[in-house]
Amino acid sequence: MIVPATKRRPLVDGFQRRISYLRLSVTDRCDLRCTYCMPERMQFLPRKEVLSLEELYKLSLGFIDRGVTKIRITGGEPLVRRDIIDLVTALGRHLGDKGHGGLEELTLTTNATQLSGHADALARAGVRRVNISLDTLDPVCFAKLSRRDALPKVLEGIAAAKDAGLKVKINTVALKGVNQDELPDMISWAHGHGFDLTLIEVMPLGDVDEDRVDHFLPLSKVREALQKHWTLIPSSHDSGGPARYDTVEQTGGRLGMITPLTNNFCAGCNRLRVTATGQLYPCLGGGERVDLRAALRSEQPEANLEAALVEAMTIKPEKHHFDISTRGASPAQPRHMSMTGG
Ligand code: SAM
Ligand code: SF4
Repeated sequence: MIVPATKRRPLVDGFQRRISYLRLSVTDRCDLRCTYCMPERMQFLPRKEVLSLEELYKLSLGFIDRGVTKIRITGGEPLVRRDIIDLVTALGRHLGDKGHGGLEELTLTTNATQLSGHADALARAGVRRVNISLDTLDPVCFAKLSRRDALPKVLEGIAAAKDAGLKVKINTVALKGVNQDELPDMISWAHGHGFDLTLIEVMPLGDVDEDRVDHFLPLSKVREALQKHWTLIPSSHDSGGPARYDTVEQTGGRLGMITPLTNNFCAGCNRLRVTATGQLYPCLGGGERVDLRAALRSEQPEANLEAALVEAMTIKPEKHHFDISTRGASPAQPRHMSMTGG
């Protein structure tokens, strides 16, 4: 039973931040192996540890009841989860304009390899925007970076999303010596198609087969380089996340930058992340955790879920402490981004 928006008790953390955004990971599995994200021989979770779609739905309702208005489905790769469209469709019924109220936005982050077969269904379920991760338009670089030869499928998926009327935002991790020289072309390509593009600094999350220090590219440097050819006009656009936007005068498109390393954005953090096993991490870069699966599977799921959310508010840290300056240093957290949900 969903409580009307006016009666909901909002989630507010110890730093008076109102939490309205849930990133829900529906699987830790993926059909790519991006080198900065996971090792080639990534160990995935046994399936029995992962919440069922019904459990993920129930959990989501608990969050909506506590004032969460935006849910992003993520992973791992969310579209490799069997029947994922059923969950998206069920959640879509809670979008504000569909009668039950509660959700203002339901969205998805995907690598787009399987998007061509799902774009229409996502649009029908009420999804209006998708974030698509694409780090290069060069097939050779793509195959090396993701360890899979999948660029044609990804481009097909992007085209299908556009055709289905989904608003596309491209997310690109900026990597020194990998896609650094290609970034202006990617921005021009995205803007030419009417897509916003957001650049992201690589974060030290989970062990991978390389040292991320070798590829870390501060976005302050990228900005400097872009400004030699383009005029970046600061924009007040807010997509509800940590990106800060500029409009590129020459292309007319929007360019976002997510700078967890060079410019910490935690003061305005409005989100929580739940893994596919129901572990709630109030901070991407922190180890604090609450076990929602235990609450959900207990004798009194509603009361225990409520208590778990209250606890999450007390343990959400003020900020993360990422550092990517020392070769050979351990990652800030042993969890990969594919586990916590990107
Ligand atoms: N598989 C989907 C995808 O790639 O869009 C969703 C999950 S993925 C973990 C979400 C985002 O996290 C992607 O944009 C990816 O590039 C980014 N990402 C993964 N590992 C990262 C890292 N260590 N630092 C920065 N971004 C990372
Ligand atoms: Fe998979 Fe996304 Fe990680 Fe790439 S970034 S390996 S697509 S989860």
